[in-house]
Amino acid sequence: MITNDQLFEASSLSLPGGVNSPVRAFGSVGGSPRFIRSASGATVTDVEGTTYVDLVASWGPALLGHAHPVVVEAVQQAAARGLSFGAPTAGETELAQLVIDRVESNGIRPLERVRLVSTGTEATMTAIRLARGYTGRDLLVKFAGHYHGHSDGLLAAAGSGLATLALPGSAGVTEATASQTIVLPYNDRAAITEVFAQFGDRIAAIITEAAAANMGVLPPEPGFNAFLATTAHSHGALLILDEVLTGFRVGPAGWWGLENSTSSAQEHRYLPDLITFGKVIGGGMPLAALGGRAAVMNSLAPLGPVYQAGTLSGNPLAVAAGLATLRLADAEVYRRVDAAAAAVSNATSAAFDAAGVAHRVQRAGSLFSFVFGEQFVTAAPKTYDDVQGQETWRYPAFFHAMQDGGVALPPSVFEAWFLTAAHDEAALGTIYEALPAAAQAAALA
Ligand code: PMP
Repeated sequence: MITNDQLFEASSLSLPGGVNSPVRAFGSVGGSPRFIRSASGATVTDVEGTTYVDLVASWGPALLGHAHPVVVEAVQQAAARGLSFGAPTAGETELAQLVIDRVESNGIRPLERVRLVSTGTEATMTAIRLARGYTGRDLLVKFAGHYHGHSDGLLAAAGSGLATLALPGSAGVTEATASQTIVLPYNDRAAITEVFAQFGDRIAAIITEAAAANMGVLPPEPGFNAFLATTAHSHGALLILDEVLTGFRVGPAGWWGLENSTSSAQEHRYLPDLITFGKVIGGGMPLAALGGRAAVMNSLAPLGPVYQAGTLSGNPLAVAAGLATLRLADAEVYRRVDAAAAAVSNATSAAFDAAGVAHRVQRAGSLFSFVFGEQFVTAAPKTYDDVQGQETWRYPAFFHAMQDGGVALPPSVFEAWFLTAAHDEAALGTIYEALPAAAQAAALA
């Protein structure tokens, strides 16, 4: 039998770091990644034949669980009709219209037009180019610790404070590019006000994760997203709400829908100009999207001067998977995901308490993660700096003990845990059984 270790050794000779996306390499937890042979419902099975209850869910897309038979059937039927045409298909319109209709709250629909692309990176990259083209301005504001994919201008993440023009966050990003991205601390209204006072007429857009979940989960403070919209709009800039991770995962209309329907305070409601989607919208196939009102979106080619294109954009197999997934993602699915997320996060927190591990549960809808350290017991983190100050070393021991107990967690403390509608009592039972020993391992780390 071939082992994970053997496969990792072999893959490291042909792929940089043995993987095609960095966090898969287990760099921060150590050891060889599991090479997955198959996945079904709430579980993944590796090449050694070990089955794990999966809390990665392909980093979000598997809202319904892995290999949902209806989604697989839709993809198989699409495949039989041809893999890619480079010409329009009816399914693309159906998916775009479904997204336009679904993203609704209190009778308001922020999307009138949608463009389908293949990855979240493309969606945010296009949204930024569109914002710049539409406003005729060059600067972009983003928040430290927010991830929007790996396009050059968005890898500027080193937030060193107010109105500081960022240094490159990645080798290979020119200083000229990085200097057009202003990185600010999250949840810091004064920083926003100050930067707009200084550069307000040069800022094309603010881009923000609808609820941050790429530095662990760190939700916006109530009213923060509305504040961003108001500030941007009063200076003629756009607000790009990145829902690649949260969209159709935390609720049928994403984080925006959740926030605008549950917010009791009228002044906390807001309208983003562009919203980006990925992950769930493609049901596990490479598909992502951006959308907004027609006046902005029609600046895209072929109608407008902002160029964007893709050989495989709106790929028929990906569209089939997305349509099937969104059609199945009804209120009952979200109720199940919410319930499973509450059960797992509460049980994990209780296990940490029992083992004496100081921590805080961070939640944004059904997304959650944990921060470790005494300081978080009394005060929630608000910024990237806050979460970077945690006891990160507790996580690897916890992660490996959970893996030994048959549970596959995200291999980094800075990632959200993902539940699916397929996490039934049996799956949750496996997690509960693994928790006490793993929490003990975290305590002793
Ligand atoms: N935006 C957000 C909020 C994300 O979480 C991600 C991916 N994790 C991206 C953009 C980039 O998406 P992709 O990996 O599909 O390029």
